[in-house]
Amino acid sequence: MANKTKFQAIKGTRDLLPPETELWNRVEQTAREVFGTFGFGEIRLPIFEPTELFARSIGLDTDIVGKEMFTFPDPPLLFNPQFVAGWTKLKELAIAYDPGIGSINQESQELILANSRKWALAAFTGMKWAIESSMADPVTLRPEATASVCRAYIEHGMQALAQPVKLYYMGPMFRRERPQKGRYRQFYQIGAEALEAITPNQDASKSPGKDAAVDAEVIEMVMVYFARLGLEGVQLDINSIGHSAPECRRGYVEKLKAALEKVKDKLGEDSKRRIDTNPLRVLDSKLESEQGIIEKLPRIGDHLCADCAKHYAEVKRQLELRGVAYRENWRLVRGLDYYMRTTFEITARGLGSQNAVCGGGRYDGLVELLGGPPTKGIGFAIGEDRVILSLQEAGKVDMAQGLDVYIAWMGEKTLATAIRAARDLRQAGLRVELPPVEQKFGKALGQADKLGARYALILGEDEVASGQWTLKTLADGTQGKYSEAGLLEFLRRQRGEKVKE
Ligand code: AMP
Repeated sequence: MANKTKFQAIKGTRDLLPPETELWNRVEQTAREVFGTFGFGEIRLPIFEPTELFARSIGLDTDIVGKEMFTFPDPPLLFNPQFVAGWTKLKELAIAYDPGIGSINQESQELILANSRKWALAAFTGMKWAIESSMADPVTLRPEATASVCRAYIEHGMQALAQPVKLYYMGPMFRRERPQKGRYRQFYQIGAEALEAITPNQDASKSPGKDAAVDAEVIEMVMVYFARLGLEGVQLDINSIGHSAPECRRGYVEKLKAALEKVKDKLGEDSKRRIDTNPLRVLDSKLESEQGIIEKLPRIGDHLCADCAKHYAEVKRQLELRGVAYRENWRLVRGLDYYMRTTFEITARGLGSQNAVCGGGRYDGLVELLGGPPTKGIGFAIGEDRVILSLQEAGKVDMAQGLDVYIAWMGEKTLATAIRAARDLRQAGLRVELPPVEQKFGKALGQADKLGARYALILGEDEVASGQWTLKTLADGTQGKYSEAGLLEFLRRQRGEKVKE
């Protein structure tokens, strides 16, 4: 009997189907257009990278690296010959000790038992080698793409290009999160990064102002993009988390830690743990009982060094110059280790608790951390799944992308004409369905209706003989007669009017 196993998409992953994929394409195409106007070019990155790349950049104390990455040994453990040898010996040992779990002849059993110490050692060594060698270079399905962009920047010597190098990407990311609406294990991001090599003779006094302009332009670009998509209820939050120095963020984190220690008993388990591992993350907490406590904690804005404070003030001024409305949010720290100075997050309507559609920030130093030259960076990642959800919730979904023309051909003699009509209409960019076998008139119209066609082109033997084709508008049932050329012109005109609406 046939195997009745029903395959289903793995938890946290999903299929995207038409017509929804039309919307995905529109969201992606709009990103290409808008980002292109800001001078960004597309980079296509591998889906998996060395685990170390993410561990080093994102940070060991983050949720992503700590528990959410899909990591596997390369080569896979089971195909490693050392492992196979070790496993086989272990199995034989087990059988020799307990013949009940497998068959083995008396002679081999005695031999193995007599040498069992040696065999145990061989099995252990094989397994140990296998595990060690297989784990030497594990790989990870990318949980985000900033680290990959930096890796590519270094690998291709992009510091030699005109700076900043402005790149955007789009594609799937993978995190082992608890799936819910707006949170998946395979989700899609559209992101951009602007990377700029630091040259030795750079005028440091101009740097904060210049960097702030780049930050503001990157943020402006996302906002222009969201406006172009018609995303509703868009709210931009910004903050500065300073830089990692005793007179700036490090000093602040010490003060924060001390303050948190004092209120430790009133905090939840996660926050208690974070006092030691990642105290800034406590500020992210959504726990109701902690909100009053967090509001009274020291704020980073009061502890920025002079350069970071100047940079932040300039980012705000630049955003104002560009007409980008923002809200300051001192608790916006972002989860990942590599951020410094500017951080920002954008939320949108219709998404419930998972309402962040974009997160980003500045990450000077990340390229260097990954083995490259001193480089500055700023970027963001947009959650495409959530942008789509928000557009759908707001009803901003033009699904009128169905079929244009259904060709109802009747009689074998009309087939050649129907094929020609389909070819010419498709060449003109119309969406055409040509049924593979002829149908009765009623059935053809029913099918055209089901497919959401705007028109049915009726080709019977009379029409073919006279060269006057019948076109029926399905919405109101009206119909007209057209010559081959006249039909094309009529449909083109109709399409033009549709675009203008
Ligand atoms: P992050 O860098 O983690 O803040 O991610 C940037 C954006 O990606 C977030 O604001 C979300 O819109 C989106 N995102 C992150 N994780 C997920 C997920 N598991 N499922 C869907 N979207 C996500």
